[in-house]
Formats: sequence, C-alpha cells, structure tokens
Amino acid sequence: MQISIFNKTQEFRSARTKFNGNVGFVPTMGNLHAGHISLLEQSLIDNDLTVLSIFVNPKQFGQGEDLDKYPRTFEEDLNKTKELLAKYPNKRIYVFAPANEEIYPENFSTVINVPKLACKLEGEFRPTHFEGVCTVVYLLFQIVKPHKAYFGQKDYQQLAIISQMVKDLLLDIEIVPMPITREADGLAMSSRNQYLNEKQRVDALILSKTINKLADTIIDQGVNVAMKMAKHIQSEDKNFNYLEIKNAFTLDDINDSIKDFVILATYQQGQTRLLDNKVVKL
Ligand code: AMP
Repeated sequence: MQISIFNKTQEFRSARTKFNGNVGFVPTMGNLHAGHISLLEQSLIDNDLTVLSIFVNPKQFGQGEDLDKYPRTFEEDLNKTKELLAKYPNKRIYVFAPANEEIYPENFSTVINVPKLACKLEGEFRPTHFEGVCTVVYLLFQIVKPHKAYFGQKDYQQLAIISQMVKDLLLDIEIVPMPITREADGLAMSSRNQYLNEKQRVDALILSKTINKLADTIIDQGVNVAMKMAKHIQSEDKNFNYLEIKNAFTLDDINDSIKDFVILATYQQGQTRLLDNKVVKL
C-alpha cells in the first residue's frame, strides 16, 4: 500500500522533493473522524499525493485549555487512513507526524498573525489561538509545499484567516473549503464531542437547531428579525458564548447591502466549547 510515515521534518522534506506530481495537504491534530476523512478523500480524488499531518499544536492552546487531554489516537488514525486509501489504489499518502521539537526547535521566535480577522468571535475568547494556528499552518505549508490545502468550514473563522494569510503572503496554494460533516442528529463532528456526557450530548443539539432556525428566519423574515432573535436567544441561554450573524466574506458586521451571511456560534457544555456555523445566501 502506498502509505509512508514520517516523524522527522528533514526526512519528510527529502521524500517530498523527489515527488513531482500534484500534492494535496490536510493538516489535522489527529483523532480522525468522518469530517477529517471527507477532507482526505477529496484530496485523494484531486491529487497524486496527499499529505496528512497529525500534530497537536501547543501554540494554539491557551492556558487552562485541553492540550494535555486532547485525544491522541495515532494507530486508529493510521488504520482509518489505510482503509480510505484502499479505495484509491493508485494514490499515495504521506503521514507527517512530527514531535514538538521538529516544528518548534529551541529559540523558535516567529509569530504569524492576521489580527483584524483573528481578534473577533473566537479571538475574544481565545486571544492567542489564531496566531498559533497561522504560525503552524505557515510552517507546515513550507515543509509540505502543497498545491492545494483542504480546510473544513466547521472552523469558519480559521478558514477565513488562513485564506487571508495565503493571499497576503503570496503563497501559491489553493485553499479548498470543505462542507461540515455532521452526526445523524445534526451535531457538527468534532474530536471534542467525546468530552460530552450524556446530558451535554443531548443539550448540544441546541447549537445546530438554533443556527438552522436563524437561517430559516433570515430567509423568511429578513436578517434584522434574525439578528433580534439571536440577541434574545443569547440573553436567555448563557451557554452561548456568542451567536452572531456576520458578512460571510469579511466576518464584519452586516449592513443592508449584504446578501451573504454567516451565522456563527459557540455553545459551552461544561469545559467543552462547541463550534458551529451556517452560511446563508439570499
Ligand atoms: P482539527 O484536527 O480539529 O484541527 O481539524 C482538522 C481539519 O478538519 C480542519 O480543517 C477542520 O476544519 C476540519 N474539520 C474538523 N471537523 C470537521 C467537520 N465536522 N466537518 C468538516 N471538516 C472538519
């Protein structure tokens, strides 16, 4: 089977330079679920070689967040990857799973940031999160040298920030946005869903249901009614860290000329923050 595993950046880079075909890249923190697999599958379809990175990036976790308990399931991830690759016998996957020192050697000092987009929404609750994301994604792009990179719309703000970084820094990489994969009952898949107890798992459905209700309201009654409804819901249910309707392209506040909206929300269940969003085009 055409799968190779690399833990060392140098070894990965020397294999990468020998490869001449199209390269697709799927950066992850591992603990793969059907959402990650959908990104991988699209990359397998589009490219000769797919690079899957598995790296729990310490720089994107704030103090007191779940870095230590984040699920690390390398063997299962590898099995899922092999199972998928078996459907594409003439494609190839390189799994890049570096240790921290491979990515951040001693004295590593650079930070990449897209402050205008990174300071709002998630950024208000996780002030250094997106600079951690941008720094690692930029580094991984330098190592992997992909033609295309696949990101889930599940992390809508992250996708907007990475797209902006690629544009601003003239990186010659096509960012491919991928739809949100959901559980049968509507909950957006996430490695963090396994932290939920039974009651939290049931209550978590409020998130996707509320977003869908707001999307219907935008279409049926207009965005101003939906904005009022969002404010009311948020004031009634303190588990919503935010519930916002923004310009889908800029994440700025909306005005009367906007036709493309995104509803973005986070719902707190115990220690776990659940993220979801939906784009609405009028
Ligand atoms: P993570 O391992 O959580 O950093 O996610 C790696 C990539 O998978 C990111 O581009 C995520 O947006 C994407 N992803 C995570 N969950 C989903 C989902 N439910 N549907 C689609 N993409 C997802």
